[in-house]
Amino acid sequence: MQIGIIGTGYVGLVTAVGLAELGHEVTGTDIVADKIDKASQGIAHIYEPGLEDLLKKNLQRGNLRFDHDLDKTIQSSDVLFVCVSTPQREDGSADMTYVEGVSRRIAENLNKYKLVVEKSTVPVRTSTWVKKTIDLYKKGDVEFDVASNPEFLREGSAIHDFMHPDRIVVGVETERARDMLVEIYQAYEDRILVTNIDTAELIKHASNSFLAMKISFINLLADLCERTEAEIESVARGMGLDERIGSQFLKAGVGYGGSCFPKDVRALIKIGEDLGVNMDLLRDVDKINLDRIAIVLEKLKKALWILKDKKIAVLGLAFKPETDDIRNAPSIAIIQALLGEGACVTLYDPQAAENIKAVIPENPPSVVYTRTALEALKGANAALLVTEWDEFKTLDLKKAHEIMDNPILIDGRNVFSPKKVRELGIEYASVGRK
Ligand code: NAD
Repeated sequence: MQIGIIGTGYVGLVTAVGLAELGHEVTGTDIVADKIDKASQGIAHIYEPGLEDLLKKNLQRGNLRFDHDLDKTIQSSDVLFVCVSTPQREDGSADMTYVEGVSRRIAENLNKYKLVVEKSTVPVRTSTWVKKTIDLYKKGDVEFDVASNPEFLREGSAIHDFMHPDRIVVGVETERARDMLVEIYQAYEDRILVTNIDTAELIKHASNSFLAMKISFINLLADLCERTEAEIESVARGMGLDERIGSQFLKAGVGYGGSCFPKDVRALIKIGEDLGVNMDLLRDVDKINLDRIAIVLEKLKKALWILKDKKIAVLGLAFKPETDDIRNAPSIAIIQALLGEGACVTLYDPQAAENIKAVIPENPPSVVYTRTALEALKGANAALLVTEWDEFKTLDLKKAHEIMDNPILIDGRNVFSPKKVRELGIEYASVGRK
């Protein structure tokens, strides 16, 4: 089987490399020429641990290629994984323009049977539109199937997740499509869940919304903890030990971000609204998450009173550690709010600074990027930890105390021990803890 990957962004590049690693013949294509040029040379355009090594390995092995030519890639493939973006529109719904565009191109190049696999996160019922679009624009009487195979990788551990999936969801409506996908994922045969297409599409939105709900839930409890003697990490531990609840995604902080959770929660709200289902539960999940920005700013104000002309060091800009992805990162809203208050910011992230610069350009003295965390802390009136990169866990706090103008630390991810930090004479606030 020749596999074509349309869209070699985070998901597409990892999928291309992962499927090649499983031994398949894979060609990746993208409308952004630079991504294809880089990938062809063994360079990953994103930071993702382990990705570049596997990319190089499979290029050398000869079963992974990248091609600028979308038409040619479609024509030569038996299976097409559609991995293009499905961004959020103003009203919260998913923008399906790219998926529709790719469906038309597939139709125009339908030279033999093809299995078209939705890998992008799409609203339930999308497959009916993909099918209709291909039928509308195809020229001859060529057969095709549409299937859904949602992606569950986590940025920062995407390669690991691809190689060790909890489950492979395969939504199909023909045996032919099922057999092809089961063959592709033979290595994970014991973890394949076959469903109808609507179910597979919904599983993805449901999974992300449920995880987002866990995060908002624990953040809501953190607010309660801050007004009582309860302590959020022990509350989370006590809850998580219950197997029915589980301990993951119960970490209080400045909220979830990234290219998936905020958009997928809102897309599911819109899907429900359109189908006449009351989606208040998820509306609250979104609201609780958005409230985190004001809450963290309140903590800074509690320490400094007025933020105007204060120099605030922001540590961690990526939406989570081990990635350079800044899409919907809480840091962006926080920095914009700080600048809105008239504060100056010194910004540091081990990987994501270049990406953030495109959104918040360097503009001294208001916006300064530094090469180390300590450099960002120098002369700062307060520090705000937004992303819990490992290197912050071993930050030299003694030194930080020396070089900051005011040793104030707002720990938005509960990285440090309150007792230890305070022993150094640093004024400290975290989330849901005294
Ligand atoms: P991305 O923006 O990194 O990648 C999308 C790629 O598609 C881009 O490189 C873009 O240039 C390309 N593209 C757009 N139109 C194209 C066209 N007509 N032909 C060829 N290429 C085209 O996005 P992503 O993070 O990889 O997400 C892709 C989809 O997967 C989204 O639906 C997202 O919700 C979903 N998803 C993302 C993640 C994640 O962690 N990033 C995880 C699971 C699912």
